[in-house]
Amino acid sequence: MRGLTRKRILVTGGAGFLGAHLCKRLLDEDHEVICVDNYFTGSKDNVIELLDNPHFELMRHDVTFPLYIEVDEIYNLACPASPIHYQHDPVQTTKTSVHGAINMLGLAKRVKAKIFQASTSEVYGDPQVHPQTESYWGHVNPNGIRSCYDEGKRCAETLFFDYHRQHGLRIKVARIFNTYGPKMHPADGRVVSNFIIQALNNKPITIYGDGSQTRSFCYVDDLIEAFLRLMNSPDGFTGPVNTGNPGEFTIKELAEKVIELTGSRSKLDYRPLPADDPAHRQPDITLARDKLGWEPRVELEEGLKKTIPYFEGLLKP
Ligand code: NAD
Ligand code: UDP
Repeated sequence: MRGLTRKRILVTGGAGFLGAHLCKRLLDEDHEVICVDNYFTGSKDNVIELLDNPHFELMRHDVTFPLYIEVDEIYNLACPASPIHYQHDPVQTTKTSVHGAINMLGLAKRVKAKIFQASTSEVYGDPQVHPQTESYWGHVNPNGIRSCYDEGKRCAETLFFDYHRQHGLRIKVARIFNTYGPKMHPADGRVVSNFIIQALNNKPITIYGDGSQTRSFCYVDDLIEAFLRLMNSPDGFTGPVNTGNPGEFTIKELAEKVIELTGSRSKLDYRPLPADDPAHRQPDITLARDKLGWEPRVELEEGLKKTIPYFEGLLKP
């Protein structure tokens, strides 16, 4: 018999970086969690400490195929997030976003569940408006090497809003900006994990381009708090809502900060800039502040200090 307030919650992509943190937080809030993952970029290791919890269930499943279970809420996170991973099999990336959304929305419709979509700042592409507000429609290349991810996520948003308008589904759409923290895949090629591992090994820090491009980095705990606040917000509020830390840094500044905090002897190594790499990215989080009473609390330096020991642990023989 479930507790009166305990919900049964599905997290797709639950064995990935964000998914694993979300599963833990939902269990801590006394919910029942079903974690679905095909282990493309995620792994059982990310949720290993949850496996003994009787309210946690781990299921190998690919969201591009239908899923028949009974749940109260769905967090749809399944999709590789790092450029090298989503570009590895771009057709599968688009299928995961689009077919995955159709399958999860179909499930939500059948069981009348509330459904959350992990959308992305990439829907703004290489933005010409700065900082980015939710009303900006973006500047996206439809057929470049990032398009499998960007357009897949844009189409998923379209599907969410059409299911909402057409079928009355309760939807919640978060546009996530660059997030970092423990449990990031050490080989996923994202900038924070790359730089920390390179610095800890005293290897050259690979800066793509001249390092003047900017990103705004959010610590994972702050982001997960935003997820829960959005899911628990009144039904009338669907988003899309920007979730990220407005603190904006150049990639060169990030490299220097990582070198300083790790006490590394690494030097900067400039490499070619990948195609369609956005020049600037910074969330305007006015809407999240107003509707969710949320704003990030962990500044970059503090978050890096929490993240570096995780990678140190992975590098130990
Ligand atoms: P991640 O790669 O660590 O996690 C994604 C998870 O989805 C992995 O466990 C992977 O195995 C799983 N997955 C991939 N394809 C699947 C499929 N077809 N069926 C089932 N599972 C599948 O990435 P993350 O950083 O945890 O990102 C989670 C979500 O948040 C993604 O949807 C991503 O697009 C979104 N997001 C993340 C960030 C960020 O900075 N971390 C930024 C914007 C958006
Ligand atoms: N980047 C870099 N060196 C690396 C990895 C990434 O300079 O080793 C740059 C990348 O070109 C981009 C930024 O860091 O400008 C963020 O890259 P990431 O892959 O983390 O995410 P993105 O925001 O591009 O999806």
